[in-house]
Amino acid sequence: MKKYFFIILIGPFIFHPLFSQVENLVEISMHVPHVKYNLMYANKNNFTSKRIYPKSTHQTFMVKDAVMALRNIAEELEKNDLGLLVWDAYRPFKATVKFWNLIHDERYVANPAKGSGHNRGIAIDLTLYKLSTGKLIEMPTGFDNFSDTAHHDFMAISQSKIENRDFLKEIMYKYGFQSLQTEWWHYMWPNDRNYQILDIPFKKLKYK
Ligand SMILES: [Zn+2]
Repeated sequence: MKKYFFIILIGPFIFHPLFSQVENLVEISMHVPHVKYNLMYANKNNFTSKRIYPKSTHQTFMVKDAVMALRNIAEELEKNDLGLLVWDAYRPFKATVKFWNLIHDERYVANPAKGSGHNRGIAIDLTLYKLSTGKLIEMPTGFDNFSDTAHHDFMAISQSKIENRDFLKEIMYKYGFQSLQTEWWHYMWPNDRNYQILDIPFKKLKYK
């Protein structure tokens, strides 16, 4: 019932998935070298213990400008034997409603009344891995850790974890992304109001 309530409430404010908006979403790994995916919401290995996206979801998307910035980031990272591992990016609006119905706490999930940068295709959750070994580099926490340890200003961790977290932030900023104080892995492309909340299922998106 709650689900339908939100759709009725929010529905009129979501723009129709216009052709241009759909066209603006591009598949990340096709444009960004060495990108690896571990899409946490396409399996049950996430904080909800439920599969949020269809099992068949193996790729993800962002708006084109953000993906072009990611390409520059990946090219610079390559020189340091590093690559990007993506946990989540574009998220259909219905998935945000699903999260809200499961968790219902704004500290952990986006309130559908506001939508999320992920719904607009401008947010990405990522970390770094070593190209030569394929191993993740050490970061303060794993994905979706909702404790203080995940905050950018948390310092009661090893020096190498601080350095790795700050290194990721620096390179993301250098190419135009913004960070979120409470989640070291979450980055946003700016000017969110320029991008519509979308509810296009993954299977309808073109791999381009
Ligand atoms: Zn995120």
